Amino acid sequence: MPAKVTFASARPKELRAEATLPSLLDRMLGTWNFKKRFAKKRVAIKMHLGGNVGFSTIHPVFVARTVEAVKNAGGNPFVTDGPSAVESAWRRGYTPQTLGCQLLPVAGAADKYVYSRKVNFRTLKTVELAGNIVDADAMIVLSHGKGHGHSGFGGAIKNIAMGCVDGGTRSKIHRLMSAAFEWDSSKCTGCLLCRDNCPNKAITFKKGKIDIFDHACKYCMHCQLACPQKAITIDQSGYRHFQRGMALTVREALKTFEPGRVLHITLLLNITPFCDCWGFTTPNIVPDVGIVAGEDIVAAETAAIDMIKAENFIEGSLPSPLRRTGSGHLFQQIHGKDPYIQVEECVRLGLGDRKYRLTQIS
Ligand code: SF4
Ligand code: SF4
Repeated sequence: MPAKVTFASARPKELRAEATLPSLLDRMLGTWNFKKRFAKKRVAIKMHLGGNVGFSTIHPVFVARTVEAVKNAGGNPFVTDGPSAVESAWRRGYTPQTLGCQLLPVAGAADKYVYSRKVNFRTLKTVELAGNIVDADAMIVLSHGKGHGHSGFGGAIKNIAMGCVDGGTRSKIHRLMSAAFEWDSSKCTGCLLCRDNCPNKAITFKKGKIDIFDHACKYCMHCQLACPQKAITIDQSGYRHFQRGMALTVREALKTFEPGRVLHITLLLNITPFCDCWGFTTPNIVPDVGIVAGEDIVAAETAAIDMIKAENFIEGSLPSPLRRTGSGHLFQQIHGKDPYIQVEECVRLGLGDRKYRLTQIS
């Protein structure tokens, strides 16, 4: 039987408040048996609270209603993210007053409160899981669905993999991707042809050393081909390693909860091309879609990615130097990375099934 995924559309069927998303979210949460899932439990609501002047993270209205639903079910919720995002969260409208619960740094104020787990994948030997996640009894993964320069799409998988760990683990997962580039300084003459031929402006030279910004890189190989000295080699599987690293981290984080204690809710609103960690907001690239929720992370993430369609692309919405090239999912066209690979890696680890049964909330 395919996993249940609920969906609330951003397009109201009637012009009254009860037909719009906050009310639909209430009714959606009502279908997930919060009493059984969260009563008498300490519930971590894991979010990406963004940074700096970004204004496209999840609106506090939706967070507050989720908090209220947990409280009404007899649970004890707290909202959590990395220490710097929590510290500046008030700037983006997230406070105990607007949300109705406390905000806690996921691995403590010093980002050192962690539990180590072995994963032994390439250079990622261990992941340091955030203490406030491991100590919680249950979790709501409340994610903003948007593009991501490393994985095509950033939703529940990225929210857990990058956000339920300390900063050091986040860097180690990112380095799985950077390791795909090899630059032989002894061959390089500094002609800058690689930089000038990069269509995505991903290459800079700092003190004579190449620096490739892998959020922007589309693995087009132009730099490797343009280099007359053959000083650059690129292992195209690098971004797969990154996504494998994310999936392994998700597995370790989810393992800390009893079955039935985690719910994934992804808001497909303000769908921008970049991750919220950039600290600024660019235009939406498709119209708002709605909210998906599911217990099976694979099914819920697949449904979320499926709903962002290339045919709904808003012309003129991409900031320079982004542009659409090639075919496949809209985020593959924009970032050169297939957004479903992270999902496939989770399937390979037995975390769920891509088939889903959609129940529309009305
Ligand atoms: S692979 Fe393509 S996008 Fe990436 S750095 Fe080289 S030229 Fe730029
Ligand atoms: S094209 Fe090759 S030789 Fe020229 S700067 Fe780039 S890496 Fe160095």
